[in-house]
Amino acid sequence: MGFSGAAVRLLLLSSPEFRELCREVLTGGRRFREFELDLRGALLGGAAAAVSENLSALDAESGTPACGRCGSAMVRRGTRSTAPLSLLGPLRLRRGYWTCGCSKGGRHVLDETLGIAGRDGVRGTPAVLWALADLAADASFEKAAARLGRLAGVVATAKRAERAAKQVGREITAWDESAPTLREAPAETMCCSPDGTGVPVVRRDAGTAEDGRPSKTREAKVAVFHTAERRNPRTGLPERDAGSARHTAAIDSAASRDVDAEPSAFARRLWRAAERFGFAAAKRQVVVADGAKWIWNAAAELFPNAVCIVDIRHARERLREVGRAVYGAGTELCRAWSEKVCAALSEGRVDDVLRELRRHAGDKTADQCVGYVVRRLLAPSAQTAETGRLTARALKRRTPTAALG
Ligand SMILES: [Zn+2]
Repeated sequence: MGFSGAAVRLLLLSSPEFRELCREVLTGGRRFREFELDLRGALLGGAAAAVSENLSALDAESGTPACGRCGSAMVRRGTRSTAPLSLLGPLRLRRGYWTCGCSKGGRHVLDETLGIAGRDGVRGTPAVLWALADLAADASFEKAAARLGRLAGVVATAKRAERAAKQVGREITAWDESAPTLREAPAETMCCSPDGTGVPVVRRDAGTAEDGRPSKTREAKVAVFHTAERRNPRTGLPERDAGSARHTAAIDSAASRDVDAEPSAFARRLWRAAERFGFAAAKRQVVVADGAKWIWNAAAELFPNAVCIVDIRHARERLREVGRAVYGAGTELCRAWSEKVCAALSEGRVDDVLRELRRHAGDKTADQCVGYVVRRLLAPSAQTAETGRLTARALKRRTPTAALG
């Protein structure tokens, strides 16, 4: 930006009133917090007025636009006012309204140029819409609007926060679904971690998020792409490089049948993100995830050469589940057993983990965990033999699905 705060600084320093206000803070006549908030309000309000006047004046001077449909010169039909919300507060714009004989509706060229031609009656600048949508991602629309007021001094309603979130959501979806282009040079080694997480959702007829209780949980499928060149100075293990994470998240389906011509919606989205963030072009691809079937299916389908790593925290939790099922939650035996098998797992002694699990063969949780360890933690060459043993034992008991998971 060619414009800095220098002009504002000169203006404030040349104002005797401003100096007097500063003095009041020092003499205790005015609280510093109020002074700061008032000053911000004055600066933003002044900036909003100046922006509004300049844009309106420039719009009045602008040339005749060509019709987007037929190409002929449009006709100016007077000026109209609008007050879009911005991060400076509401703007007050007066801009030309243009029509063409070829079609019914008219255009506000200024709105189109600024990106404030709101669908759904959203009257806001791109910056304020993104700020509201950002806040609404973590809180209800009411709270998002209130927070913007407290933090940025911009007064917005909950309805505006809702519309902003929906509009930005549509923009993100359109970007996500567009043909991916590689945004940065791919790293040699890249990691991809897909996961599922529950999102509490509110019924449409329950009104606002404040009074509507979450009626159910839907699974959002997320994935983070990152590099891990950094090593932990203490353990020497790879760590995610700061600032390298790129995300994709949506509520979509990972289900697909063998006869389907196209991969699932999730798999297609994961592929677009992999192309966009350089994972698809990386020499070495690493997928780190929990043991969920849909993740490994997608990984095998999309990235057949990837090194697949099971998230150790998830694997440990599976083992602890067995400890609780066999010895009872909270017991000393449960704690000792879980510690022993988790230590074996951390040291890569998968055979020892399997031996411990097999001692509890017949327990449903333990049997399912054997299947999990075989499928997710054993090298593919060792898997065939293990699966054979499992199947033989399961057939003997005539409950093949329970044992195979
Ligand atoms: Zn026309």
